Amino acid sequence: HAKKEQHEDKIELVPFTVRLRVLLPLPLADAYDYRAPAGPPVPLGSFVVVPLGRRQAIGVVWDGTPDPSLPESRLRGVEQVLDAPPMTETLRRFVAWVAAYTLSPPGAVLRMAMSAPSALEARAPQAGWRRAPHPPEGARVTPPRRRVLDAVADGVPRAGGEIAEAAGVTPAILRGMADAGLIEPALLPHRRVFATPDPAHPGPALGPEQAAAAATLREAVGRHAFSTTLLTGVTGSGKTEVYFEAVAACLAQGRQALVLLPEIALSSQWLDRFRARFGVAPALWHSELTSRTRRETWRAVAEGEAPVLVGARSALFLPFPDLGLIVVDEEHETAFKQEEGVVYHARDMAVVRARLSSATCVLASATPSLESTTNAATGRYATVHLPARHGGAEMPDVALIDLRRTPPERGRFLSPPLVAAVTETLARGEQAMLFLNRRGYAPMTLCRACGHRMRCPNCTAWLVEHRAQRRLQCHHCGHVEAPPEACPECGAAHSTVPIGPGVERVLEEAAALWPEARRLVMASDTIPGPAAAAAAAQSIQRREVDLIIGTQIVAKGWHFPHLTLVGVVDADLGLAGGDLRAAERTVQLLHQVAGRAGREEHRGHVLLQSFAPEHPVMQALVSGDLDAFMAAEADDRRPGHWPPFGRLAALIVSAEDERAADRTARDLGLAAPGGEGIEVLGPAPAPLAILRGRHRRRLLLKTRRDIAVQPLLEAWLAKVSVPGSVRVQVDVDPVGF
Ligand code: ADP
Ligand code: ZN
Repeated sequence: HAKKEQHEDKIELVPFTVRLRVLLPLPLADAYDYRAPAGPPVPLGSFVVVPLGRRQAIGVVWDGTPDPSLPESRLRGVEQVLDAPPMTETLRRFVAWVAAYTLSPPGAVLRMAMSAPSALEARAPQAGWRRAPHPPEGARVTPPRRRVLDAVADGVPRAGGEIAEAAGVTPAILRGMADAGLIEPALLPHRRVFATPDPAHPGPALGPEQAAAAATLREAVGRHAFSTTLLTGVTGSGKTEVYFEAVAACLAQGRQALVLLPEIALSSQWLDRFRARFGVAPALWHSELTSRTRRETWRAVAEGEAPVLVGARSALFLPFPDLGLIVVDEEHETAFKQEEGVVYHARDMAVVRARLSSATCVLASATPSLESTTNAATGRYATVHLPARHGGAEMPDVALIDLRRTPPERGRFLSPPLVAAVTETLARGEQAMLFLNRRGYAPMTLCRACGHRMRCPNCTAWLVEHRAQRRLQCHHCGHVEAPPEACPECGAAHSTVPIGPGVERVLEEAAALWPEARRLVMASDTIPGPAAAAAAAQSIQRREVDLIIGTQIVAKGWHFPHLTLVGVVDADLGLAGGDLRAAERTVQLLHQVAGRAGREEHRGHVLLQSFAPEHPVMQALVSGDLDAFMAAEADDRRPGHWPPFGRLAALIVSAEDERAADRTARDLGLAAPGGEGIEVLGPAPAPLAILRGRHRRRLLLKTRRDIAVQPLLEAWLAKVSVPGSVRVQVDVDPVGF
């Protein structure tokens, strides 16, 4: 009898209507059920409009079993199936994988893959212009009109502003041409049209070592199967030209290629080289695109129309239908780690996406991360190495200046040997660079009368003086205030003094020492965007600048042929603090900066000012033997199961109320997982104990490599109830700690 009842229940529960699971781009725990629209079945991955509360939302038809307990009466219907290519199974699996790995809600990851739902939002078609197919005979074609016709030569409709800019004409010219019947109004395409890069376009001829390396990569792409290759080689060895050949091989197969760069805004020289190799510009993806360009680029990618896309880390979530290659250039860069929202490392996720796409992954760097060198050593990654600089240029020689023996004058920051070297370089008509990874004028302001230090009201951080803008600024929350007339603590008038240098202060010193030299500061406040960066790079290349003073911006892949001297003002700067990777990162950064010197006929020289010349980091930079340094670094981390020899996850507990943060941190500490190969460190104050007004505590979960942290974290978090005012952020594989 019981059996029969169950059977009847089951029959009743079989849904009459077809239910669809729809994942919404919101931080929700799961997909929701909706009633399928009438008509043909809706394929998985389709973009659909559904009601959500009193609003509408765009979501994606997702895998999974509908929830049979939800009664028919509560089920709401899908309102519309959008006319866009459905999200591929590969991308859906990637979204699910990233969500599971980072312990993020799948919808939050989906949001990145939809690049904010606006990429799909319906909009009225926009009007533009195209070349008239049958222009009247005898219409006057002046030179400006000729330029306009050239700009629309391919027959594709373009926005008026875009044409006017390309042709250097005013909108009035366009109207005149329309009246004359030379151009006509047309609706703009819903996707951007990207020219197809030509793999056979004649690029620079490769040197023999480059050619051998390129052949290996081409062969990897040709296998049409997943593999990862670590492409290493000294700075200036021409790795870019080598991986361009992998891009060419991928294009020849008719698959799409993705190149991730750490800072698109600083990549003007890279784009020039791409154009030199392939004859056209690639599609671009970064945070500063207009929403319209985003929408159109997203659409072009989804329709397989952007053969090569160059982007920031978020480009990994674009809907490539057939991705054959992912290159991660400067794979060691921390810019690939996203710290807000879904916390993920684009280098690691690139490998995952390549695996799911049966694609080739190439990780390139002159200073690869210990993660990647370890994977190469164990054979998980193949390796390709370029041992020498392109064109026979020599590696720069690196020497130390012991600041204990030859200190700068009082109140100065450049030591006599560094000053002499810059003077000689400038006298020879060559360029010099001073590197200090600190923006502004001084990192701290102190009251001489009482010792009070100016600190941020919202963060555990000193306020940084930006003298040019006459203000003190917090580099963590953006708080800004005017420099005090009197000490806010003791009231003494004009008693505050700057402590330590930033690039502005080095500039001041340089101006006094070399008044004739043409100086350029490269920092994020002086180089606010791609155009400024390109202009700066050009004026350096054209020798309109003698002395460059810069923050880490100058360490990126620049090629400045006339730069022969690099002076590092404070080589010890990155070594302070308890960060596991402080030494590794300092070596990487300073080696990259050093690598800007002497890239063509003249040998480069690098001088490192340090109070600790005997430190292994300084010794590695002088010897240039980074492999030995990384081997020693590995030996340090291996016994304690520190990454990459063990796994690490951080829980950051934060709240405006300090006691609330402490309570939750303590509860998490009490509920901490344990067992063989599992260790929990903390709770302890997080590196920025107060950030944007929130008190932060941290717990670190460290496990052996063969233990997955995600199930442990899930079970752990489930044991502790977290009040609404407290946030617990999970960071799997944290980088800065
Ligand atoms: P890396 O990325 O390895 O530091 P780059 O790729 O920046 O080195 O190359 C260094 C410089 O050499 C660049 O200016 C590049 O344009 C140039 N270069 C590299 N390979 C070639 C080549 N085969 N022919 C001409 N120039 C090249
Ligand atoms: Zn602050």
